[in-house]
Amino acid sequence: MKSKRNKPKIHPVLIAVVAGLSALAVVIAVFIGLAATTEKSPESQAVVGSMVVDAPVTDDAGSTAAKLISLGYQKGSAIKTNGVQLALCQSKEDAQWVVDSMLATSVMEGAKSKFSVPVTIEDGYGHIIGKEEALLLVSTGTVSLNYIAQGGETAQAVCSAFFMDEAAFKTLNAAAGDTIPAGTVLKVTSNAQPLLTVHNEKEVVEEEVIPFETKTVQDNTLFKGTSRVKQAGVNGLRRRTVIVTYHNGLEIARDEGEYTVITEPVQKIVNEGTRKAGDIGSAPSFRWPLTGRISSKFGPRWGKEHQGIDIAVSEGTNVRAAAGGTVLRAFNNGGYGLFVEIDHGSGWVTRYAHNSKLLVKPGQEVVRGEVVALSGNTGNSTGPHLHFEIRRGGTPVDPQLYLP
Ligand SMILES: [Zn+2]
Repeated sequence: MKSKRNKPKIHPVLIAVVAGLSALAVVIAVFIGLAATTEKSPESQAVVGSMVVDAPVTDDAGSTAAKLISLGYQKGSAIKTNGVQLALCQSKEDAQWVVDSMLATSVMEGAKSKFSVPVTIEDGYGHIIGKEEALLLVSTGTVSLNYIAQGGETAQAVCSAFFMDEAAFKTLNAAAGDTIPAGTVLKVTSNAQPLLTVHNEKEVVEEEVIPFETKTVQDNTLFKGTSRVKQAGVNGLRRRTVIVTYHNGLEIARDEGEYTVITEPVQKIVNEGTRKAGDIGSAPSFRWPLTGRISSKFGPRWGKEHQGIDIAVSEGTNVRAAAGGTVLRAFNNGGYGLFVEIDHGSGWVTRYAHNSKLLVKPGQEVVRGEVVALSGNTGNSTGPHLHFEIRRGGTPVDPQLYLP
């Protein structure tokens, strides 16, 4: 099975966020530069009513670890992707907990989960945040910021200014009351896209019925206006695997594999008669259905016409098709008892009556000499025998004229 797999793509919004963060990191580097000259902690650089980005600080801008620490940054375990620090945790265990929790919340039944870009945990510098806050940050895309109150603001006003959920505000600022004194450092968030994208792939098996086709074959042995099902149609079945890709639970791609046929459909074949009424072909080469003494001939009998011949045989003798053909009827026909009728085409039909057992079904094709029944004494019969008829265009004829 061939399958056109879409390579997982980094979500464009995620790129934007990561790019944004890189830009912020540059801003931070500028802050560091400023701090280096004034030897003050970065937080003291914040002007009242302005914001300082909380987390991402990298030590690859020429600053040494010792310098960063001397500037008031903390050393912790950073969650990074593409070299960009997303959050700084107290310990490796905390960082791992954040990553595992994010994956766990996005796990879908029957799906493989992973991050769309590699996520690493490394040493990093910045402001350590609690693991719950870090999870909030990476899973909802909230960028954590420090906001220094100007005074007179209410919690509600801060929330509406930052489009923040009041419950989230309370979580981040448990100590804050309804009115906030000037100079209070508040944790606020900026809603963005999730910083990490969980990539899930789910395999779904789809099945589809393949409908059978019907083929009509012209048949010169059948009369016009009649038809016969030569072969019954059977539907087939095909199956394919669809791989559905989700990013943070949203379907982003559907990769439909090619169908594999499980069972091929079987064509329905219908024979349609073309023979004109009254246009009867020459008789097939008939054989005796069984051998035995003829106990009653064709023709007038007891003031009626005997439409066939009676052959006296013991019950259970094989009754064979006098020529090849299709079974028209095989059932218990009152007077004829257990009865078989075979159509040989071109207007020729044979009948076998008073059997003890039928061995064929209507529609079944039989070859010349095939056993179609066991002889018997059923229906209007005065002793074990086979009543055998040959009909030409529906009219009974003397079988003895056609038998060898
Ligand atoms: Zn008879």
